[in-house]
Amino acid sequence: MSIVQNLLDLIRQEMATHNVSTLHSVKIKHGKLTHVVPEALDFAWEALTRDTEFEGAGLETEEVPLVLKCGGCGREFTPEGLAAMISPCPYCEEQIGHELVSGRELHIEHIEAE
Ligand SMILES: [Zn+2]
Repeated sequence: MSIVQNLLDLIRQEMATHNVSTLHSVKIKHGKLTHVVPEALDFAWEALTRDTEFEGAGLETEEVPLVLKCGGCGREFTPEGLAAMISPCPYCEEQIGHELVSGRELHIEHIEAE
């Protein structure tokens, strides 16, 4: 719920900045590590926009895969499962020192409004 509340605050700010008042749709990108469940997000979106100026606006979600940069050989890979930072590199089998490239982001990709 609180994620959607935060998003709504951001959307309001964005819309005020651009001087628009009717929201048509929003696209959210969420990293795999944020553990956002799209269905739960949809549900919260419905509940929190009902009877507001955003009622009826569509929500689209896209999951961003987890990508790590190997601490050994520097190549990027997507680990199986979510034991992210200690997953062995598929190229050199290094298990430590990986850097997170993507997977933790949660942001508004696109707002369609007028
Ligand atoms: Zn490696």
